[in-house]
Amino acid sequence: MAVTRTFSIIKPDATRRNLTGAVTKMLEEAGLRVVASKRIHMTREQAEGFYAVHKERPFFGELVDFMISGPVVVQVLEGEDAVKRNRDVMGATNPADAAEGTIRKTYAESIEANSVHGSDSDENAAIEIAFFFNEDEIVG
Ligand code: ADP
Ligand code: MG
Repeated sequence: MAVTRTFSIIKPDATRRNLTGAVTKMLEEAGLRVVASKRIHMTREQAEGFYAVHKERPFFGELVDFMISGPVVVQVLEGEDAVKRNRDVMGATNPADAAEGTIRKTYAESIEANSVHGSDSDENAAIEIAFFFNEDEIVG
């Protein structure tokens, strides 16, 4: 299995509860390495651009409001089969459906305030990483 990269966001519900370290620990214990990380407060324009794929969905406006409601931590994660590895440790979108031991089962508040984002494909990982990071900010 090749070492690849994925993109992660620790969402405002988690930063508000001071869970940045706890979430990162679960990512690291899942075999992912944080090769870039920064705490930012997204602008509305950034959040709308990042989630443009969801703009027709009924929850789009609330999702954007939530994502700019507080700081987030954007990260690049590296590991074997990083996209799938991260999705596995994140758990299902709705914490009610998430497996035991996953980040969302452990920490998410709701289907919206679900603590973490993770890319869903290698192609989207590359797009999402480039949305927030320059290559010289990523140190493997
Ligand atoms: P995932 O984050 O698991 O890839 P999606 O890409 O389908 O899930 O959705 C993006 C984000 O939109 C979710 O993580 C969650 O914050 C929010 N979301 C998804 N579905 C709903 C919903 N039915 N109601 C409110 N927010 C939602
Ligand atoms: Mg998604």
